[in-house]
Amino acid sequence: MAKLYFRYGAMGSSKTANAIMVQYNYRERGQSALLVKPAMENRDGARIIASRSGLSAPCVYIEDLTLEEAAKHDCIIVDEAQFLTKEQVEKLVLIVDDLNVPVVAYGLRADFQGNLFEGSHWLLAWADSIEEVKTVCWCGKKATWNARIADGKVVKTGAQIQLGGNESYTALCRKHWLRGELKPSTFIFRTIRQEEAEQAVEIEKICFPPNEACKREYMIPRIAAAADFFWVAEDHGRIAGFINGIATNEECFRDEFFTDASIHDPDGKNVMILGLDVLPEYRGRGLGRELMRTYSEQMKGRRLVLTCLDHLVGMYRKMGFRDLGLSASVWGGETWHEMEK
Ligand SMILES: [Zn+2]
Repeated sequence: MAKLYFRYGAMGSSKTANAIMVQYNYRERGQSALLVKPAMENRDGARIIASRSGLSAPCVYIEDLTLEEAAKHDCIIVDEAQFLTKEQVEKLVLIVDDLNVPVVAYGLRADFQGNLFEGSHWLLAWADSIEEVKTVCWCGKKATWNARIADGKVVKTGAQIQLGGNESYTALCRKHWLRGELKPSTFIFRTIRQEEAEQAVEIEKICFPPNEACKREYMIPRIAAAADFFWVAEDHGRIAGFINGIATNEECFRDEFFTDASIHDPDGKNVMILGLDVLPEYRGRGLGRELMRTYSEQMKGRRLVLTCLDHLVGMYRKMGFRDLGLSASVWGGETWHEMEK
């Protein structure tokens, strides 16, 4: 029995190229597959479908397709199926059920606001087979959203169909669509400003459990005394993460470094790292590693010392640190490894 297939995917998932290839495959077998699209989708001007990759093929408009014509073919392939009306999807159902001709419809699932298109709505409801044509966001995750872009920014209001405008579309994962991020953040690395001290206190609270987080009463004097050793990653004016420490000629880590900023000796040859913080929404993109790399460069040849919990030893090893075994630190009632580089 013939089936109605709906193959949906985001912008740039090669749906049109796939449609043209399916027709080609029918031809190779000596059969006939007819390419069809809704007439309202006329950005190519003529009765032609064209893929971004450069493939193109003639087609007919679904408005002009009669059941008599459809019956002459072995398959009907629909491009831009999101623009179909409910009646046109009903016509495809008749072609499948009454003529026993399979129909393969390619289209977007949802618009630039995440709402279903009319055609996609009915195809999702009525198709015998629903398949996803995949593509990826810049971050590598599956892209499921079609972002409308105008003047280099993601636009979230406006008409569903806007033909002939100067906007363009790109596929993003849900997270980056919601955040309106079209490309990776480019962080600015710099030392902290005094007026950012409270912001740093808040970030510390978010990044660490209460027993491990550095309290405000210690953080504020540290920023006042050792701002040159407190580096932040700024993303559009906001601190995304930071790394901080104090310098000393002492060799081993002790917990007073956390609480007594007066120990800081700007000429100290060892830098005791007191925290590496990355806000949750910036995790998983190597920002911690990038902060550490920048910090190491800025500390020019000084020995870096840090303490970390057992499960983070591997991560710091990858950043070039060597495990010195258990530290004397009992900060937060935990057992700490001391590491150096
Ligand atoms: Zn993404």
